[in-house]
Amino acid sequence: MNEIILFDLDHTLYEAYNTWRNPLQQLFREHCSITRFPWKMYFKLRDFNNVFDLLYQKSFRHHWLTSELASLLLLLIEKRVDASLLFDELERIDFRLRVLRHKYPRPGMYRLSAMATLADHKVFQKTVQLAQDICNARSVRALTPEYYNMAAMTPHDGVVQCFDFLSTEGYRFYLATEGDYKHQIFKIKRLSLQSYFKGKILASEFYLENPSYQSALRTITTAVNDGSYGKKFYSKEIIHADETVRMFEMLKHKEHYFYYYALCHAIASDADTPEKVLLQSKAPEHLLSTDITPESKVLMVGDRNDKDMVPLWKIFQSACYLIRIKAGVYKDEKLKFKIPKRNYAETKNFRGVLSRLKKELKGGYI
Ligand SMILES: [Mg+2]
Repeated sequence: MNEIILFDLDHTLYEAYNTWRNPLQQLFREHCSITRFPWKMYFKLRDFNNVFDLLYQKSFRHHWLTSELASLLLLLIEKRVDASLLFDELERIDFRLRVLRHKYPRPGMYRLSAMATLADHKVFQKTVQLAQDICNARSVRALTPEYYNMAAMTPHDGVVQCFDFLSTEGYRFYLATEGDYKHQIFKIKRLSLQSYFKGKILASEFYLENPSYQSALRTITTAVNDGSYGKKFYSKEIIHADETVRMFEMLKHKEHYFYYYALCHAIASDADTPEKVLLQSKAPEHLLSTDITPESKVLMVGDRNDKDMVPLWKIFQSACYLIRIKAGVYKDEKLKFKIPKRNYAETKNFRGVLSRLKKELKGGYI
């Protein structure tokens, strides 16, 4: 069988929203006497993830509470930091960082300028310092594991039946999810779906665990920190490290297409454990190659047009079949491309997925 079937994770296989919102609310109510959780503030903070990424090893991406995020929230709730001043400053930093990213496509140069930009912002620096001081407090550190324990996850109705059918019939299917590789593994385990995806969790940020990426990033960070980056700008080692980091980071977002090329290259070279290929790849340029001949049919099940449906349609055109779950937080997202009905179907929930897959797999249209 030549078909490959890709499944998105969040909002497709389970209800991703309340899974993290409810425990977070409960945790702050119990530990910090917060009766009304400040959601507006929380979402605003999350919008500036890129700014904090530059300073924190762990960021607060994907709703996974960290002690850093807990400290920041506590500081803002306790009014030890003026929220409006902080957010104004974050807006300005974020804007400047976006400009710098365009100005300096080499990651080391960007990082150097970004650090200098951050050093100019007093309110931000003070907040970060305060947050770092309290994030090691035992009470704050205890929030993270407690939050993990409270995050109960259940797959949508029909998910297990669907994977049972596909496994029994010998179809090849993979998890095509945007986000942090370790977090996505954590979720799959929580959902008790790990037996279906051994070696097949192809999370877009796998590169954070890739030794070639890690070593290149280390080279850049060391040179930036010891001040030698500018002097070594044209050295082979620095140029290579910059290129490696730049290319791996192109895989981060699904809507930028390269992620899907990388995923297909990995499956083509090892259909049983493509995850290993991505994690061990030494040559991002091979993963980014757009030279893909669709020798098989590609089926995708997801909830978002911009990240799950349109990129695959653009790459594979009539050799793909897309099933969009029109439910959850992105249910009203519009499809901005004309995709023929024979290649695109919508369903109100996951229960409708298996029948559509069966029909498509049996019919064959290539
Ligand atoms: Mg999704």
